[in-house]
Amino acid sequence: MSHHAWVKTYARLTHLEPATCPRCARRDLAMVVYGDVVTRRGWGVLWCRACLHGIRLSRLDPVPASVPIRPPESAATEIPVDIRYVEDD
Ligand SMILES: [Zn+2]
Repeated sequence: MSHHAWVKTYARLTHLEPATCPRCARRDLAMVVYGDVVTRRGWGVLWCRACLHGIRLSRLDPVPASVPIRPPESAATEIPVDIRYVEDD
């Protein structure tokens, strides 16, 4: 399970295509993106609710139009603390 596979999964989600977890193959992915709705710069997290692996999405500039931008102050309660992050290859 590589970081690259997660990046490809992110691309599928931003194109509103069905995607499964690169690690456990379940279709139980979650993605949250925070940032500025005017500049559409942001960051976020993509993870699998089933196996709790995921990646950080940093410096999204711009955030794809298909992805809603949430207020940054809600990140603390929306991102599970026990995600195991897959680091860049
Ligand atoms: Zn999984």
